[in-house]
Amino acid sequence: MKTLGLLGGMSWESTATYYRLLNEAVRDRCGGLHSAKLLLASVDFAPIAGMMRADRWHEAGVSLSQSARVLEGAGAEALVLCTNTLHKVAPQIEAAVSIPLLHIVDPTAAAITAAGFERVGLIATRFTMEAEFYVDRLRQRGLEPLIPGESDRIEIHRIIFEELVLGRVLEVSRRALQQAIARLAARGAQGVIFGCTEIGLLLAAADSPLPVFDTTVLHAASAADWALEP
Ligand code: GLU
Repeated sequence: MKTLGLLGGMSWESTATYYRLLNEAVRDRCGGLHSAKLLLASVDFAPIAGMMRADRWHEAGVSLSQSARVLEGAGAEALVLCTNTLHKVAPQIEAAVSIPLLHIVDPTAAAITAAGFERVGLIATRFTMEAEFYVDRLRQRGLEPLIPGESDRIEIHRIIFEELVLGRVLEVSRRALQQAIARLAARGAQGVIFGCTEIGLLLAAADSPLPVFDTTVLHAASAADWALEP
């Protein structure tokens, strides 16, 4: 089994989910007392979030690259960046190390294609929904991402940063998310990407008006596959 280096803490609420999912995947596949070989660099999210808000992405990339180098030096054989939004600086991190970064979009796109879908809604931070880095990678994989309207984007972003990353799970926000997904369905979306690693903490797939592609679940599963490949 190979060792994965997790770049986490963005937020730690979803990094905890990655930790559980990776260990469950290895236990289910290998049985007995087997568990995942992991190294975790968990950052203080406040300064990173400040850089994101101030559009200082390069600085965030420098900081995460330093953590990535620490993981590589400690023996990590691949990086798992436990947030969608910070994949905006994935190329910068990749350039700083010689181990691969297992990109969150790739297993997500593969799962959507395997389900036979093309037109999928994207629920995420405004940084992820409104920039090109994420939707472009989906389009390059033959998909047609649909972004919520502006008022839904503002509300989803607010729910993520004022509630979910702080561990607050509110029924009123769950309903708001369901309504935003229903509006994507009305525009022809066949499924919805939970493109923020905390969304699954608020809305269970079974309660979504559309089939769900949860990036946290898909990313962790594919990273476990990678670690267990001979
Ligand atoms: N974890 C979230 C994501 O997947 C949002 C917080 C962040 O910007 O890192 O995008």
